Amino acid sequence: MSKVAKKPADDHGLRCRHCGCGHFRVIYTRAAWGGKLVRRRECRNCGKRVTTWERKIGEE
Ligand SMILES: [Zn+2]
Repeated sequence: MSKVAKKPADDHGLRCRHCGCGHFRVIYTRAAWGGKLVRRRECRNCGKRVTTWERKIGEE
């Protein structure tokens, strides 16, 4: 059995490394190789952009 970190599907848990803010605006979402989703987000507080990789729901 693999250890799975309990993590809500969306924004929660993501923190801006620059200001510690947890609020992000999603700029775009796109499918990537490996059945993943790439999300480009922008911190609402400081405007720094981060890219997150998420597993596509429903595809394993
Ligand atoms: Zn920030």
